[in-house]
Order: sequence, then structure tokens, then C-alpha cells
Amino acid sequence: MNTMGHPSLHSVSGANPLSYSQNKAIPRKVYNKNYPMREPTGFYCSSCGEWHDELPLNYGADLPDIFYDIPEEERDQRIEANDDFCIVDDQHYFVRGNIEIPIKDTGQTFGWGVWVSLSEKNFNRSTELLDTEGRESEPPYFGWLSTSLPYPESTLNLKTLVHTQPVGTRPLVELEPTSHPLSLEQRRGITMQRVQEIAEHILHGQNPE
Ligand SMILES: [Zn+2]
Repeated sequence: MNTMGHPSLHSVSGANPLSYSQNKAIPRKVYNKNYPMREPTGFYCSSCGEWHDELPLNYGADLPDIFYDIPEEERDQRIEANDDFCIVDDQHYFVRGNIEIPIKDTGQTFGWGVWVSLSEKNFNRSTELLDTEGRESEPPYFGWLSTSLPYPESTLNLKTLVHTQPVGTRPLVELEPTSHPLSLEQRRGITMQRVQEIAEHILHGQNPE
């Protein structure tokens, strides 16, 4: 248990286990709608054939994937976390940020809420700057993506840059420009049809491609 320097963190032993076990389609990972819908529109689902009332534009993971690999009875001792920061075994440091993807022809943005692993130095810096006005002038931090997203190729340990945002806003996570489909989507944007495919995958647990 980390006992120094991070008073804002608390043990996750009190975390509601339902928050990551409710969706049996994706038992080990968490996709929550972070924000209210921007448009009151649903869609006919090509997976189940039913009408779904919402087409979410944002999903987020409550904790980095490593959390789910640690036996439940060890989590209290090994993990400290809150909504934005997580430390595992006093040596793995994670911050929560957003991968934003433009939705073509809509002016809207799709968002993945993800966790990124930072160096201890940059992690400490980001916690120090939590309430510091002007912190968005901070140079970007290197980070390893630490959340699995539903893409045909794993998204774990993709290289990113973590861009600090103004106080009150989570950092923006920029993928290294590679041929990984997530990186391509971030650079090129996605269609609303693709947003629907993602929703169907998360609702029903089918492969997105
Ligand atoms: Zn459906």
C-alpha cells in the first residue's frame, strides 16, 4: 500500500464489484457511458434486430486492465485508485484520459475513456498539477495505453502522448501514428455507422470487424 505523497488516492477495496461484472458480454472490462447523449437518437441494431434508444458517443474504463488481473483478495493491499489516478504495487502509475475520435460529417466527437501508464516522475507531476491553472502548457507525457478496447488488434501497450488539459478536464491521449486501427481512426475520424458498430459490439459482445 502506498502511504506517501498521494493523499487523493484511496484503496479500491470499496469499489462496487457490480460496476465491472454487470455486463456479462464483457466480463473483465468496463464500458460505462460517461456523459449524457448529445442527440436523442437511437438505432436499429443489426446484431439483435431491436431498436436501442441510445447511441452512446462515449465509453470509459473505471480502472486500468491490470486491476482485473489482480486477485480480488489482493487488491486492497496492492492498489490505490480514484477516478483519475491509480497506483499498483507502488511501482505502476496510471492516469485516466480520453481518446477523442472525430465523427465524420457531424462535428461531433467519439470518446474512449482509457488509462495510460506514466513514469513515476510524470505521474507525480500530473498529480501535483491537479489544481494548477495554466497546466495545459505542460509538455506531453509519454504513456503506454493500459485499457483494452474492442479492436481486432490489441490496444494494450500502444504508445501514446498524454496532453494535459485545463483544470477540471481529463488529459487527451494521442496515439502514436501507426497502422493500428485505433490510431488510424483517431487520425482519420470514423463514421456514425462505425459508432453504431461499436455500440452493437459493446451491447452484444461480438467482434467489431
Ligand atoms: Zn442490439
